[in-house]
Amino acid sequence: MTDTTPPAVTAPVPPDQGPAPSGGQDADVIVVGAGPAGSSAAYHLARQGLDVLLLEKSDFPREKVCGDGLTPRAVRQLLRMGIDTAAEGWHRNRGVRFYSAHDSLEVDWPESSRFPGYGLTRSRHDFDDLLARQAVHAGARLWTGARVTAPVVDRAGRVRGVEAVVGKEKRPVTCAAPVVVAADGVSARLAVALGVDRDPARPMATAVRRYYRSPARHADPYLDVWSELRARPGGPALPGYGWVFPMGDGRVNAGLGLVSTRGAEGGDLRRLLDTWLSTTPAAWGLRDEANAEGEVRSAALPMGHNRRPHYTRGLVLVGDSGGMVSPWSGEGIPYAMESGEVAAEIIGDALARPDAAWRERVLHRYPREIHDRTGRYHRLGTAWAALLTRPAAASFVSGRVLRSPTAMRAMIRLLTNLTDDRGGDAVDRVLTTLVRAVPARAPRRPAPVARARRR
Ligand SMILES: Cc1cc2nc3c(=O)[nH]c(=O)nc-3n(C[C@H](O)[C@H](O)[C@H](O)COP(=O)(O)OP(=O)(O)OC[C@H]3O[C@@H](n4cnc5c(N)ncnc54)[C@H](O)[C@@H]3O)c2cc1C
Repeated sequence: MTDTTPPAVTAPVPPDQGPAPSGGQDADVIVVGAGPAGSSAAYHLARQGLDVLLLEKSDFPREKVCGDGLTPRAVRQLLRMGIDTAAEGWHRNRGVRFYSAHDSLEVDWPESSRFPGYGLTRSRHDFDDLLARQAVHAGARLWTGARVTAPVVDRAGRVRGVEAVVGKEKRPVTCAAPVVVAADGVSARLAVALGVDRDPARPMATAVRRYYRSPARHADPYLDVWSELRARPGGPALPGYGWVFPMGDGRVNAGLGLVSTRGAEGGDLRRLLDTWLSTTPAAWGLRDEANAEGEVRSAALPMGHNRRPHYTRGLVLVGDSGGMVSPWSGEGIPYAMESGEVAAEIIGDALARPDAAWRERVLHRYPREIHDRTGRYHRLGTAWAALLTRPAAASFVSGRVLRSPTAMRAMIRLLTNLTDDRGGDAVDRVLTTLVRAVPARAPRRPAPVARARRR
């Protein structure tokens, strides 16, 4: 038997940040994981007046391994959550500076009617905390220190809630809701429990990062990207890139990621990081261990919609749990936040319907909507990632394409999905047509009823 009293552990929300967490352990919607996907979903659900319970296993603020880079696509999602990006703590950038072996090229973010003209950086230590607070401010109830251990599934195989252990004493709690949002990141514990497995044909990447104090680079207005990574001088170009992102607070976030598809494997990324940083200009201070802050940390990036279906039997997958990181760029935050918003819109619509069959039909719109928005883009990106695992193609891209200003001004829109399909220029029209020409993939069948606990 599980405890039925609400847990004592609540979010450390200061009184001026929003209402104190209250209410019971049942809700209209349970969101598992307060990363960008979960907080976005919780915010947009709470704005509709729904009772939202946001369960997060960590206590905020907490570290999350990331490059901390936000393109205009991510900034748009922040603005849609009512975040003030002019406030202290954000560092703006105006584009990307691409480095190849012998030169560099600055490319500004494209002008667009759909996206703001600037990007940002902010440490995930602050960023996730801020987004979770914004969800609380909108009315969501946040329980931190609440680790979800399993979905609760009824006899028909439908998710009816979750089981969790809460607080230092690990008190077991059962929470019920007609819809559960899985925003639990790359581990995708809830999806796995329902038998929603990863598609091995879709790419995964592994990335490492470390902070460095760098007075020379911390305030730079561009995100630095190294398109040519080699394990040894003269060796083959590797399928990935390195980055130095200015944080504006005296530090930079330096890291690299390699994509791993069926055709390629990662290798020793920590050693590769040292090798690559030793080639950066000495004045940047990234070769010097004394300037490093914290450990080198690594994590996986699930790409190309590599876990589907994105909706099954009461469980909605958002962000990394649905493998939504872009195979083009390794960006995951904008797609996590967008999927959270789309999920919120459709769940709100579903819960307004009077009967269960109707609600279910509406919820099935979610995977179609995600596919319509980004399915083809991810599919084309998967082919791009596979191409880069061929050394000759990787060398051609870094040696030729990335050196041409005209090609790169077009490429940046494709790499970061910033094409303007409403009233954009000729390049936008060509790129939009290219993505639309990618054949749609057959929807994935629902996962078999298995592995989850029933009650
Ligand atoms: C090294 C590296 C660099 C990256 N750089 C960038 C970048 O510069 N820009 C960019 O856009 N993307 C970047 N990404 C990708 C980005 O970090 C992810 O795509 C993004 O964090 C996904 O958000 P999410 O909310 O889906 O998952 P997460 O951010 O992983 O959040 C999941 C949350 O769920 C919680 N959780 C997990 N399991 C449970 C459970 N059982 N119970 C309760 N809570 C649980 C976790 O504690 C966490 O808070 C990078 C990734 C890596 C690894």
